[in-house]
Amino acid sequence: MLLIVVDQFRYDHFERFGDLFVPKGLRRLLRDGASWTQSNYDHMPTYTAPGHGTLMTGAYPGESGIIGNEWLERTTGKRITSVSDESVKLLGGGSNEIASSPSRLMASTVGDELRLATSDRAKVIGISVKDRSAILPAGRHANAAYWFSTTSGNMVSSTYYFNQLPTWVTTFNNARTADKYFGAKWERLLSADEYVRRAGPDTPSWENVSGSSDTNAFPHTITGGATTPNQAFYWALDYSPFTNDLLVSFAQEAIVNEQLGQDDDTDVLTVSFSANDYVGHRFGPYSQEVMDVTLRVDRNIATLLDFVETRVGLANTLVAFTADHGVSPIPEHAAALGLGGGRVKFTDVMGTIQAAISARYNPQGKSPDPTADYLLKFSEGGKPREWFINSTIYFNYDALRRDGVNVEEFSPVVCAAALTVPGVARCFTRTQLLRGATSIGDPIERRVLHGFYPSRSGDIILVAEPYKYLAETLTATHGSPYSYDTHVPTILMGSGITPGRYFEAATPADIAPTLSALLRITPPSNVTGRVLVEALRK
Ligand SMILES: [Zn+2]
Repeated sequence: MLLIVVDQFRYDHFERFGDLFVPKGLRRLLRDGASWTQSNYDHMPTYTAPGHGTLMTGAYPGESGIIGNEWLERTTGKRITSVSDESVKLLGGGSNEIASSPSRLMASTVGDELRLATSDRAKVIGISVKDRSAILPAGRHANAAYWFSTTSGNMVSSTYYFNQLPTWVTTFNNARTADKYFGAKWERLLSADEYVRRAGPDTPSWENVSGSSDTNAFPHTITGGATTPNQAFYWALDYSPFTNDLLVSFAQEAIVNEQLGQDDDTDVLTVSFSANDYVGHRFGPYSQEVMDVTLRVDRNIATLLDFVETRVGLANTLVAFTADHGVSPIPEHAAALGLGGGRVKFTDVMGTIQAAISARYNPQGKSPDPTADYLLKFSEGGKPREWFINSTIYFNYDALRRDGVNVEEFSPVVCAAALTVPGVARCFTRTQLLRGATSIGDPIERRVLHGFYPSRSGDIILVAEPYKYLAETLTATHGSPYSYDTHVPTILMGSGITPGRYFEAATPADIAPTLSALLRITPPSNVTGRVLVEALRK
């Protein structure tokens, strides 16, 4: 079983660039597989970790526990990532790099269930540039997950899986494959005219790359400003299409050396291409760069599928293709088109909320203001900063208790204030979500609820208006419950699947239960998606 994920791949890439794809890449999946045209994530925030946490569990973040790329861990007061794990060590990385594991994933995956069903004979391996994208689809009982370290330039793993890297991984790393891209020139794959026609000019004003060593024009020379391969270069490599090539080479090594698909027990390989997301964040979804990295990942997928065909046979392989989320147009681009694009400033939101809290709970204007610590702060660069991550705000329960402030009364005060900030469309409180006082029929409320995990989520969840970013500095990003962030491909190909285009509503959460049905195993523990019966041969 092969899962292919392209990070930040919108469904409409098929329509915009599909005729430029090669016959054996994504077009092969569209031709020989079943594809759902109305496939949307049904959770918010639409970020990498929640998406990857959903694919092989069939569970929304509200069940998988993977509510964001990062969140506040209430028990320790620490800012953590979805996969950071201080109890394990990194293998192959830099000495000060934090290690990762699937310990925070609360639901089992298709791979976990396959291993249970086969007394561990099934092999399950996850591969990506990002740790979360390698680890989460593979699951808690996977044999291994490998990701790229921008410190060492190696493919790394952690002691969660084993005490040392397999020999073939060390051999791959010793070949310094990443270093071969030092100074590589990223040029357009096709003629410049084709790009202008489909993606507009190369350097529009909204393609703001300040803060990087890159420019917004082709060609891009990948050095990261360094003179030899180092951390700055590996970081720059992330923002090029070349890590996708690196991943294909590594996946081929994994297939050969781990003998995937060579016996009667079904193995699982998950490959998540991250370059498309990095490039998309820097240049935006309508850029020539995104068009190019899309055409290139199609060719990467063709290479990978050809390799699987030779080694294993595609007739013996179930292939799933999807993305972890879409992406919104750059706000300045959306504004230029009259779509209401804009950036809601973090300071405006927090300032307005703090003023309202002060007015309500410190009406005499006492100084120092006793309400100043009602919202939880974390330390960033040595300075305390309010928690405002994943569009959520965390309360300081100790301070509220100290002053006898009732949370149920406090929450609506915060929400009412937030809603006065231009660009804020919706506000939900923890109390509302816990009580089930939201309407499952309202798609925005439903998506917020599906992204809510009580012990990890914040106390207030905000949603910006369409095309607006909430307290974001990235050129382009995603995270909203709107279609540009939720509409992604879902394609299944293999024995038992009837090829065709399907117009039924679907979500990537349906992939895991459908694969489980085809593999005749127990579905993952928290499956909420449906079996896509319309494409299954009776
Ligand atoms: Zn992503």
